[in-house]
Amino acid sequence: MKIAVARETRDGESRVAMVPELVGKLTELGYDVAVEPGAGQPALIADDDYEQAGATVEEGALHGADLVVSVQPLSTATIRTLPAGTATISFLPTNQEPDTVRDLRDCGVTAFAMELVPRISRAQSMDALSSQALVAGYRCAIVAAGMLRRFFPLNMTAAGTVPPAEIVVLGAGVAGLQAIATAKRLGAVVSAYDVRAAAAEEIRSMGAKAIELELETLEGAGGYAREMTEDRAARQRELLTPYIANADALITTAAVPGRQAPMLVTGEMVEQMKPGSVVVDLAAETGGNVEGSVPGEVVRIGNAQVWGGRNVPSQMPGPASRLYAQNVVNLVTLMTRTASEEQDPAFAPDFEDEIVAGSCVTHDGTIRHEPTRIALEGESA
Ligand code: NAD
Repeated sequence: MKIAVARETRDGESRVAMVPELVGKLTELGYDVAVEPGAGQPALIADDDYEQAGATVEEGALHGADLVVSVQPLSTATIRTLPAGTATISFLPTNQEPDTVRDLRDCGVTAFAMELVPRISRAQSMDALSSQALVAGYRCAIVAAGMLRRFFPLNMTAAGTVPPAEIVVLGAGVAGLQAIATAKRLGAVVSAYDVRAAAAEEIRSMGAKAIELELETLEGAGGYAREMTEDRAARQRELLTPYIANADALITTAAVPGRQAPMLVTGEMVEQMKPGSVVVDLAAETGGNVEGSVPGEVVRIGNAQVWGGRNVPSQMPGPASRLYAQNVVNLVTLMTRTASEEQDPAFAPDFEDEIVAGSCVTHDGTIRHEPTRIALEGESA
């Protein structure tokens, strides 16, 4: 029974799917753990650390593995080397990577996607969307504080009083709440808005002011936001304009599952911000909450510097890897049959389990995830 930890190959990916501290959890379950050389290096983890934790580090680590774990999907070349029946666990954005899904299907790989782990209480410890959003939210607030050329906190000194920075956060899910908490800890005055009714209370519980707009709330399935009509989006932008014009820093984290990020702030709205103001758009990679933001770049719009997020969790690879690896260990534990007097331990996912079934994209040469199957093979396939 072998688990292999792949070296990430995608541009800009610094995380690794397993950390030395958690190798012991896998060996306790009965796995041999093999790591590709240098897999941890971008996250500042040395090969020696994996070896001391009980893993082997070898170039052919993936050979003979029952399960390969990674953060990003494996490359086509790697997928094609895997024998049918091998399982993979990684992020796998099926709508953006149809060719990867086809490869996994055609090679008979059993692929699980971390973003498809159902967001139910029992699966909270496996929820990598949340763990990585936590890292991204923290990072957003730190980036804003670093770029803003003024204090976040109020300073009262013998030389006079410097008022605190005013921060506006749009989108108060996992990342937004963490951005709020971090900006509050740094002493800023924070206001936030989210379309979900439940968000106002969560915003207040972080010590921030909930911006209340005279608009219907947009609660969708599973406690997520629904997509806005263009009319409502325009009205929301109009009502938010004065809050944004008054902000020293704006942080946007709004998303609607499976859709392009909603455009919440036009270039015109940014142009009304004060000299020296800062905008941090966490959603830049999925279309952007802010018109004109560019993933991985800082652009100037009017008086503001606009920072576009690009693989933001990867900018803090140590803690992001640690949290992701814990999510992976919890999912692998669920999928492992423990040893007993009658049987050996085995990697044996139970497809009757809601979490296993929900996160499975391909198995036995078929696409199991219904929306992906329909998108790639059509209704009648
Ligand atoms: P997300 O990343 O999909 O979206 C981020 C936030 O953007 C959400 O709060 C959403 O309401 C908000 N948003 C969308 N459109 C907006 C708009 N037009 N204007 C302003 N805000 C907008 O969401 P997420 O952070 O992954 O989680 C959202 C919800 O799911 C939260 O209530 C969270 O607590 C809940 N959740 C539950 C579980 C669980 O039960 N296991 C796990 C994680 C999250």
